[in-house]
Amino acid sequence: MSWALAIHGGAGGMTREHLPRATDTGARAALAEALRAGETVLAAGGAALDAVEAAVKVLEDDPHFNAGRGAALSYEGVAELDAAIMHGATRAAGAVAGVTATRHPVTLARTVMEHSPHVLLGGAGAEAFALEHGIEPATQDWLVLPERREQLAIMRAAKGGAFDVEMKFGTVGAVARDVHGHLAAATSTGGVTGKRWGRIGDSPLIGAGTYADDRACAVSATGSGEYFIRTACGHEIAARIRLGGEDAATATRGVLAEIVAMGGTGGIIVMPRAGAPIWSLATKGMYRGRISDGTPVEVAIYADE
Ligand code: ASP
Repeated sequence: MSWALAIHGGAGGMTREHLPRATDTGARAALAEALRAGETVLAAGGAALDAVEAAVKVLEDDPHFNAGRGAALSYEGVAELDAAIMHGATRAAGAVAGVTATRHPVTLARTVMEHSPHVLLGGAGAEAFALEHGIEPATQDWLVLPERREQLAIMRAAKGGAFDVEMKFGTVGAVARDVHGHLAAATSTGGVTGKRWGRIGDSPLIGAGTYADDRACAVSATGSGEYFIRTACGHEIAARIRLGGEDAATATRGVLAEIVAMGGTGGIIVMPRAGAPIWSLATKGMYRGRISDGTPVEVAIYADE
């Protein structure tokens, strides 16, 4: 089986006219680095699960994206991080929500999957679990960047809805297929700017923003999370493929169209059981990239790329 990897760094209103040159260049470099991290695993015959974790870790550390360092802030100005990971061969899954002191939430999610009887841990409990398992910590000083404070201030002043000021959803995610034919998906995020009351988005919810099933596909989503939860986006795409007989591209487009019809927006990356990785976006842009065995790195931001 040929290996393949796709990643995203969030969808939103990015256009050539408005995105600063330095942001364009910096985001593309970070995406390429994340692809290389996953490629190193997959090209050596490693597991899809290791590849998605490696790629997401690079993006969590990169301040261009809304995950780990540089995450969107809650209404109170706190980086509350959500992440999930899923193994398509066994449908084992792990996730965390609302963690505030972890450098790599995706690694914490994987530890939940591998070293606890549970799937999703939240808040203080997830932090206690992280401590017990020696997961690398991070301070809020390190996670929170001045740009995100500014975004929050604008949003609070405008008394707007709980969505990113410029609708730049910067969640990160990866989907992979390894040479053994196994699939995996991972997603990591700070959620949406100005989120309140312990709001949890689609990213850490298995079957919504993150899903993997070797019988169908692996999915990672970004966008207005509430809609991805209501459509059970990841599971719905997999079900359309597995039970409805749709090809992966048709299933992905179909579910995104439903999300848009309901009033949501965003983008999705999908790894089918065979063939090239797929992406679909309803926004002007989505930070994204893909690479397959024998196909060079492809990185894109704008919808027309
Ligand atoms: N989907 C994420 C959430 O709702 C936001 C994003 O994609 O940036 O938490």
